[in-house]
Amino acid sequence: MSLIVVLPPLFKAFMLKKTEFAKEIQGAHREQCYACRRAKKNCLCGSIKPFVTKMRFVILMHAKEAREQKTGTARLAKLCLTNAELLIGTDFTCNERVNALLRDPAYAPFVLYPGPEAVNFKTLRRALPAEDKILLIFVIDGTWRLARQLLNNSQNIRALPRLSFSGSYVSQFIIKRQPLRHCVSTIEAIYYLCKEAEVAGYENLNGQNEALMALLKKLVDNQLPYRNGGGRKREDNKRRSA
Ligand SMILES: [Zn+2]
Repeated sequence: MSLIVVLPPLFKAFMLKKTEFAKEIQGAHREQCYACRRAKKNCLCGSIKPFVTKMRFVILMHAKEAREQKTGTARLAKLCLTNAELLIGTDFTCNERVNALLRDPAYAPFVLYPGPEAVNFKTLRRALPAEDKILLIFVIDGTWRLARQLLNNSQNIRALPRLSFSGSYVSQFIIKRQPLRHCVSTIEAIYYLCKEAEVAGYENLNGQNEALMALLKKLVDNQLPYRNGGGRKREDNKRRSA
């Protein structure tokens, strides 16, 4: 015996309405803020306090990171810095914008990347061609593997002198596991760079860069509930072992 259920037309209409309604709700939840790229209910734009730096930042975002990354911090960093731009690609060797900046005699370009030859703000003076040049800092955004790939591909960026930190820092971006203890997210890298530049007398920010860390904390707080406490547990373990 087969069981055939014939739904009354009114019930069918109700079912249809219900699924459409559910879709609408889902859509509203997925709706994205075009500035910070967060779901509208988690939009962080209200917490962004842009500030001016003397240094110019160029964030080079790996195209794969741009496609896949939902919680990356590069776009947030860019929104906080009035003197910054964000470019997306995998190889910047022939990128017109990058090459125009590199040709501009007003700038002294560096790539923020560790290495034995890297200078930091304590040792920068010996690497500066002239005191009056504006520091142009290329920051590579992506996982460490993608960042290395981007640097290897981009001959113009690879040829630049490297800038690194004089201090060592532990990432507060606890929703994402950093592969190595000293790896920090892009927004933290810019924050610490601003801090070290200030100490060395290259910037006069009066703590405005704290807005970067405040924003990161807000991002972490927003994301933690979705991680079922996993992130917090990891951080607790890290503190215990530290
Ligand atoms: Zn937003």
